[in-house]
Amino acid sequence: MTGRPITAMVVGDRPKAVAKLVCGIEVFDALTHAYCALAGTRLQVLGREGPPWWHTASAVANAIVALRLGMYAWRQPRRAGKRREAQTHTRESFVGLLLDIRNAKKQGPAAIGDRRRTRLAELVTFARNRSPYYRELYRSRPDRVEDPTLLPVTSKQALMANFDAAVTDREVTLQKVRAFIADPDLIGEPFLGVRVFSVFTPLPDLVAQLNDFRPALLFGYATAIAALAAEQEAGRLRIDPVLVVPTAERLPPGEHEKIAEVFSARVGEVYGSTGIGVATFRCAHGWLHVNSDWVILEPVERDFSPTPPGRPSHTVLVTNLANRVQPIIRYDLGDSLTTRPDPCPCGTPLPAIRVEGRRDDALRFPGAGGREARVLPLALGTAIEETPGVLQFQAYQSQDDELTIRLAAEPDAEPEAVWRDVGGHVTEFLAAQGGDVRLRRASEPPHRDPRTQKFRSIWDARARQASEGRER
Ligand SMILES: [Zn+2]
Repeated sequence: MTGRPITAMVVGDRPKAVAKLVCGIEVFDALTHAYCALAGTRLQVLGREGPPWWHTASAVANAIVALRLGMYAWRQPRRAGKRREAQTHTRESFVGLLLDIRNAKKQGPAAIGDRRRTRLAELVTFARNRSPYYRELYRSRPDRVEDPTLLPVTSKQALMANFDAAVTDREVTLQKVRAFIADPDLIGEPFLGVRVFSVFTPLPDLVAQLNDFRPALLFGYATAIAALAAEQEAGRLRIDPVLVVPTAERLPPGEHEKIAEVFSARVGEVYGSTGIGVATFRCAHGWLHVNSDWVILEPVERDFSPTPPGRPSHTVLVTNLANRVQPIIRYDLGDSLTTRPDPCPCGTPLPAIRVEGRRDDALRFPGAGGREARVLPLALGTAIEETPGVLQFQAYQSQDDELTIRLAAEPDAEPEAVWRDVGGHVTEFLAAQGGDVRLRRASEPPHRDPRTQKFRSIWDARARQASEGRER
């Protein structure tokens, strides 16, 4: 780490939104390391145990990155402190949180349960007071809610359809968020040692930019990191990061180890989609540990009854106790997840989970001059999803040079106009990646796979047809 305290993030064109997400992740990481340091637990990374000072050093490093990102993401040039109240939680001092964790540790696991219940009750009260949507949704529920199962389930469709009513800050509206998203400021501009690279950049250009920048810390969408690892392995990318953190998407088994090997770096892990971000870390026994006093994960069956530990769930409901601007309470994440029934042999007291996933495929299309264009699912998904009027979508590669899109428009949007905009964005995006691709609009709306009951966003239907053919 010789004089390169520099972070590269390979993310969508929303620097501040992403900075907020990564800042949250960093806070969780810092807390996890602090927790381990204070609890005297040492985590193994790839079968190796770090030196005794590793957790303390990492907690400090994560805290510094979080602070820098936070300063960037929440800095508001000419604004009175209007939003301050809603953001109290993200502004809470790091030292305060450390003390809080130490106290929780001193008081034992029962105290962590108490904190979780108190935080949930506070979050529900806050959401009811500030958000017309949640006030209505929770109308018939008890005054004080300490048990999440007393509350109804929410979904992406419901929250997006009621976005303005669901947020707790009346100044945040979908229209403003969209205007903000559409403003691609700061991409590629170094800020406080952090430089944001767009995942929409064609891979060869991204490799060249990263070779120039030589980041010490590399954060990014998981499939982007995986693609960069392949470039590094092929010798085209030559960077030497100390820490690599794939976020927002899950990777196939073995991919983490490969990334760690290719970059000779430590690899962190985050589970959950953009905006929901559940920070976890993978222990030496291959389980993900969850910071359970800030996040509630409920693995459930199809009818939302609890799935017992040790069995894969139908889906998982997530409650984020730290996000107050857009409350995420019993949100249906769509993933299948297994909770470990017994204590994890790594010694970490935090709950251990395994994600069976919903996993999106990276797509490969023929490109100009016989070159192959590799398309990252999250980048493609972002290009579609951030088109105004899109409620839900699915996209699959139906033929070598054909992408089929299933689209549902928001209730107040004009479906034909939304489709035209989506078509324009996607065509532009694919062309920038060097792909020569036809778009097809599916006649049916997005839906779960009737066979697996899973909802996938982006996949290679050619591969699936082929593998199904083999099974028969
Ligand atoms: Zn473990």
